[in-house]
Amino acid sequence: MQKTFSIIKPDAVATGKTGKILSLIEEKGFRIVAMRMAKLSQSQAEGFYAVHAERPFYRSLVTFMTEGPVVLLALEREDAVLKLREVMGATNPANAAEGTVRKLYAESIERNAMHGSDAPETAAVELAYFFNSIELNQL
Ligand code: ATP
Ligand code: MG
Repeated sequence: MQKTFSIIKPDAVATGKTGKILSLIEEKGFRIVAMRMAKLSQSQAEGFYAVHAERPFYRSLVTFMTEGPVVLLALEREDAVLKLREVMGATNPANAAEGTVRKLYAESIERNAMHGSDAPETAAVELAYFFNSIELNQL
């Protein structure tokens, strides 16, 4: 069993896609370990996407991620990191496979409905960024 971290982004929450995305995630065999709505502060969003700080889209990405509420998720299944990336689809919805969350619900390469950790190491860091060890059943 492996855990991964996900965010249902402000675009998808605002357009009422939260339930549909959660259904799809559960249908793909994930167990929801922890879940919380939040409105990210600027510093939380900057810290979360710090790896992209030098990219041209960074300021716009931080503004987007703080524009409204998000849903923070700790998810578990076998091979969770890789499997969630498959459920998400490509960053740019124009390149996302049929049936993926981004193909179904993303508006653009920036407003792309959900986040998923890209490796087990980043999943551990991102889970700990938003959830404590009691919420993650790690005590
Ligand atoms: P995420 O990290 O959110 O799961 P990802 O791993 O598919 O997405 P990254 O390259 O890590 O893609 O980019 C992080 C986020 O930054 C993207 O999901 C998207 O919201 C935004 N982004 C990435 N590339 C661009 C771009 N060229 N223009 C605008 N926004 C972008
Ligand atoms: Mg990424």
